Amino acid sequence: MLEPQDLRLRQRDYLLRLMRAMAAQLDAEPLLNLVIAQAVELLAGNYGLIALYNPNQRLEIRAAYGLTPSLWSAFDEILHVLQSEGPQSSHMSAELSKLANALNVPLRQVVALPMVTGDQQLGMMLVLRAALNVGFTADDRQLLSAFVDFAAIAVNNSQLYAEAIAERGRLDAIIESSADGMMMLDTRWRITRFNAAMERLTGWSREEALGRPCAEVLAIHNQQGVNICLTACPLQLFPDNDHPSVEGWVTHRDGHEIYVGSSYSVVREPTGRFGGAIANIRDITKQKRDEQQQSTFISVMSHELKTPVAIIKGYASTLSRTDVKLNKATKAEMLTGIEEEADRLARLIGDLLEVSRMQAGGLRLHPAPFDLSDLAADVVAAFAATVDQRFEFQLRFEPKLPHVYADQERIRMVLSNLISNAIKYSPEGGVIRLGGWPENGHVLSYVTDEGIGIAQEELPKLFAPFYRVDNRLARETQGAGLGLYLTKSIIEAHGGRMWADSTLGKGSRFYWTLPIAPPSLPDVEPSVILANGE
Ligand code: ADP
Repeated sequence: MLEPQDLRLRQRDYLLRLMRAMAAQLDAEPLLNLVIAQAVELLAGNYGLIALYNPNQRLEIRAAYGLTPSLWSAFDEILHVLQSEGPQSSHMSAELSKLANALNVPLRQVVALPMVTGDQQLGMMLVLRAALNVGFTADDRQLLSAFVDFAAIAVNNSQLYAEAIAERGRLDAIIESSADGMMMLDTRWRITRFNAAMERLTGWSREEALGRPCAEVLAIHNQQGVNICLTACPLQLFPDNDHPSVEGWVTHRDGHEIYVGSSYSVVREPTGRFGGAIANIRDITKQKRDEQQQSTFISVMSHELKTPVAIIKGYASTLSRTDVKLNKATKAEMLTGIEEEADRLARLIGDLLEVSRMQAGGLRLHPAPFDLSDLAADVVAAFAATVDQRFEFQLRFEPKLPHVYADQERIRMVLSNLISNAIKYSPEGGVIRLGGWPENGHVLSYVTDEGIGIAQEELPKLFAPFYRVDNRLARETQGAGLGLYLTKSIIEAHGGRMWADSTLGKGSRFYWTLPIAPPSLPDVEPSVILANGE
């Protein structure tokens, strides 16, 4: 038999070891199991349990010793009494014998202590002894109470830890699923987090990006290619600004350029020192391109509209002068000039209206079956009357070409644009050929010329609004760069495709497809809105 002194020493030593083990354990479940097993052992008990308050403030058993989970519900009553009346309740002994009956074990005594940290009630710990053993003493109670205080702290820590983990998981999910790129930077602007949207925006994988300087991975540059992140990083430029931002171009690893807006939130250490930053990167390429297009639009249009207006004004003021004698032929020439320039203005304004209609969301088409080769012959005849002998027109449509199902007036515009370009960009004249044949439910047609041709790298850009190839002839001929954009949009609104092929110095070929009219279609003119090809 141990002396009481030795026993206390042993218990103290035991408590210390136990506390160390508890402090090392942050997961709630194993910690609770460890605590209750040790508490039962410390007091030479037979059974034990820990019940914690759930979010509804009800005690709920979370760990037990010597009791299988199927027996836990038998404790509902005693827990209820403990919760409402406390461990000193006069009902406790009655509850204990009810419990002993329910469990079919001889229970003699229970010691129940609240688990409290600060002013927070966490729950309750119960240790029970079987009737065969001696009862709990005041010492036992004291020992358990010292232990419970520490256990409460450990349990509280583990709950905080679990909450922090859950919070971090939620934060991770938010960062990861954000449509915007998100990065975290350390105090030396190196990347410590890199979400999936950042991978998409930059083409860098997370593994490669982590640990690298942000100026290397994001490398926002200006129009001239100067890396703003190196020369004018807003975090370094404005150290007192906690929410700086910057805009610029980023080259994706596959080579394509995007325009981004990057805003930063500076993380401050308690001393106020820079502790890193969170960067939010948004792809605003579309807005930037729209802005650029808007300014191109204004400059191209003001130039294009100014020229015919100036010519008309020049002719008109000459014609109205009374001090200058003009012969009949000169007058007629000037009047023709005014008429031509007015036509050009009307065409340009017509194109502009069409573009704005299209950009507003759709083209109203009036499709009907018609013979494309007849329409082509018609348009060619109108052009042939206006050009001199430098051009020869050839029509090469397959005989018995099936009718196409399209808006005839819009297709007239397509043919006019293509023939007008063929003439404009063939300074030496030559043959302009139009033809077509049925292919896979469509009529595939073309216009070819023997003009200056188009370089291969220019071909994909031709159909963009306001795009003009930069060559001497284009500079000398007038045009807003809208014709091919409109032409392709009209074809695509019909469900067709359009593309070009060219050899520099030899000539160009423009191809397009239109749907073949189904044989059973009635000869009425339905009106449908087809989305444009944008
Ligand atoms: P615009 O003729 O008003 O400039 P378009 O959209 O019709 O505008 O054509 C865009 C550009 O494509 C032209 O500026 C020209 O450089 C080039 N292009 C179009 N058609 C031809 C062609 N048949 N041959 C050579 N270049 C062409």
